[in-house]
Order: sequence, then structure tokens, then C-alpha cells
Amino acid sequence: MYIGVDDTDSVKGMCTTYLATEIIKEFSELDLIGNPRLVRLNPNVPWKTRGNGAVSLRFGKGIGKPKIIGQIDGKDIKCYETGIGAKPTTEHFKRACQLVDKLAYFDDEKTNPGLILTHEKPSQKLYWQAVRYVVEKKPHLKTANPKFHKGWKNGRGLIGSISATAWRPRDSTYEIIAYREEKKWGKPRKIDTASVQKMDKSIKTTFNNYDYEEKHMAIMPSSPCPILFGIRGDIENDLHKVKDIVQSEKAARWIIFLTNQGSDDHIIPGSISSLEPFTSVKVWGTVTSSPKIIEGGHLIFQISNGKKTVDCTIYEPAKKFRWIGEKLLPGDVISVYGGVREEPFTINVEKLFVEKLASVSEKVANPMCNSCKKRMKSIGKNQGYRCAVCGKKASEEKAEFSVIKRKLKTGWYEPPVGSRRHLAKPLKRN
Ligand SMILES: [Zn+2]
Repeated sequence: MYIGVDDTDSVKGMCTTYLATEIIKEFSELDLIGNPRLVRLNPNVPWKTRGNGAVSLRFGKGIGKPKIIGQIDGKDIKCYETGIGAKPTTEHFKRACQLVDKLAYFDDEKTNPGLILTHEKPSQKLYWQAVRYVVEKKPHLKTANPKFHKGWKNGRGLIGSISATAWRPRDSTYEIIAYREEKKWGKPRKIDTASVQKMDKSIKTTFNNYDYEEKHMAIMPSSPCPILFGIRGDIENDLHKVKDIVQSEKAARWIIFLTNQGSDDHIIPGSISSLEPFTSVKVWGTVTSSPKIIEGGHLIFQISNGKKTVDCTIYEPAKKFRWIGEKLLPGDVISVYGGVREEPFTINVEKLFVEKLASVSEKVANPMCNSCKKRMKSIGKNQGYRCAVCGKKASEEKAEFSVIKRKLKTGWYEPPVGSRRHLAKPLKRN
């Protein structure tokens, strides 16, 4: 039995991953098969609540030796690598619906929960569609055809609950999420900064933990949700260690999720000539304009593939990443990864690869008159030079030029940890 759920949270509270822990508690008579999954979907959909993350869990009869993946109210939570899935019943469905009724944040108009229970895993194409494109609920539901489903309000969360359940990892990472005691929800979080830095430096397989320049603790959410912190990494066993290093207020529960975070699954290899709004792409082009900072502190430059030109924007929250973009010059060849925005039409740069730097020269001196050994004088803008002594003329290009030393190197660049997309593959994972 797979249970998929999505869109139960709001910027004002709750978190769908917390609901996952409640589902684990509710179905404790069954074995959990595999880690609970936290699946991020297309970050460009206009109506997403927060990080556009859905969850999926599998229950049944486990086979082999279980592993510990968390703790809820002092009790160890275990899961089995494999097992035989249970058949979902009306009773299971009723119990799952009650949890959504009790915990989802219905007051927010953007919160439209969806829930499915199914014995069969939906086709993986439903995941790829939802992580890369804007999809409609009806055809998604028709293709998946789950045994039980319910949508609350406009039921848009059904798309996520189906897509998360449909995910077969091509690339995957883990996230350990620790939750706060209920009485502390909405109050300031207590996490010791030095201990987070220590964890970041000692557990090398984790990523997106701490921004040393902005002094920003990226593991800690800023919303009033039940999450205390979330730490991402490539090795599940290493995430068991982090909770002993990070010093914080007491966590009431913690769970290690399997996720598609940091996978670049949302990126479609594309071309500047065929950009579709609300998708994320990887495109190649030559810089055609000098980068400019516009109102709001955003940086804009243009790239072209020889046929078409498109604006690329590095938004203000990307902070120092903008100063990389600012060093680009016309002629540089780059690959841009980012979300395509409809209005204004632009690529919201998530990371970039500088393939080739243009050789740019600047004039350092007027031409020399070979007869008089004197520097010539400019006749006027773009009109060449003339020797003031003998009257000999020289064209513009006879001046002395020197190649500008570029302040940029070829290679990869990405925004600081605090302003990365959940799905964006951090360079640390390359
Ligand atoms: Zn002369």
C-alpha cells in the first residue's frame, strides 16, 4: 500500500512531512517499506505553497532486517528495504483522510490537499511530467487511477500525491528532518550556530547547511512550521551522526526521508529557441550584452544562440552570485540552468557554467608615428589618428591595445546555500 499526500501546508504553518510522521504513527500495525519519500516537484508552478514537496510512504509486511530511520515521541521508527505491500482498504483510507482533516492548513486559499492510497505504483512518467512541467489534475488522476483518492478544496494536491508515489529515483539524496515540540511551534527556534558549522565541516557528505558569508543557517526554516531543522546529505548513515553534533532545543521526533532534492531532475536540456514558461532548462549561448543591475538589485544579461536572444536574471536574493554574473562580458560562452519566467520573459538563473571567456582588449595608447617617434593625436571619435608633426595618418586599429585580464575563470558557479532551489544539484554533488 502506497500512501501519497501533498499540499497540506501553508506559509503560516504545518508541513506535509510532519503529516508523514503522523501517518507512520497511525499505521504502526504495518511495516514501513523503504524510507518515507519527500519528492519536490516543478518549482516554477505559479500556485505552489512553499517548496512544492509531496510525500509518499509504503506499508506492508517487511522482509529481512529493518533499519532505524527515526524516532517519534521516544519510540524508534524502523523500515525494511523490501517487503510485500498491503492492499489498501476502505478502513485505511478513512484513517488517512481523518489525519488530513485534522492536520492540513485549510484556511490558506493556496492549500489544496490531495491524498491517494494505491496498491500499484503509478507510471513513472507521471513523476517526470510533474517535476518538469505544469500538469493538470484530471489526466494525471486518470492515468494513475489509484484505488482510493481524495482532493480537498480544488484538490490540486492530488497531482503531487500521485507524482511523489510514481517516483523511481534516478538520482536521490536523503534529508533528516527534526520536528519541534508542539508547544514551541511558532516561537523562535534555538539552534547553536557553532555546532551547525562544526557539523557542516565534519560531515562532508551533507550539503546546503550554512552560508558563512551571509551567516545564514540554511538548515533552519523561517516559517512557523513544526520543523526544527532539515539536513541534507548523500549518505544515510552520516545523517544519523549529524543529530549528535547539532546542539539545539529538544526535537520531539525525527525521520530520515529519501528525496529527489539536489538531483536536477527538474532541468530539461533545451535551446534558447524553444523556451517554455514555467519549466526549468539548461541552455547554451553566447553573452551578447554587458550585465546590468536593475531596480530591486537584480542582475540582467542577455545570451544568444545565434538565432534567438533571451534575458537571464540573477535575482537579488542570490546575493554574491550576482557579482559572478556581473563579471561576464559579451562574447563569453556559457551554459545557464534556471526556471523560465513568463512575465517578464527571462531565465531565472540557478547556476551557470562558464565554458569560454571572450578575449577582450582595450586601447592603451595612440599609434606611434614611425618617422617622428611621437604619439599621434586622435582626429575625432572613430576617425583615426594624425601625427601633429608630419601630418601622417593612421586608422583606429593601429592604436596599441592590451588584452584585459578577466576577473572571471571558466567553470561552475552557483548561488549561496540559502538561495538554492530544493531540486538544484549543488556543485558539491558534481
Ligand atoms: Zn610624424
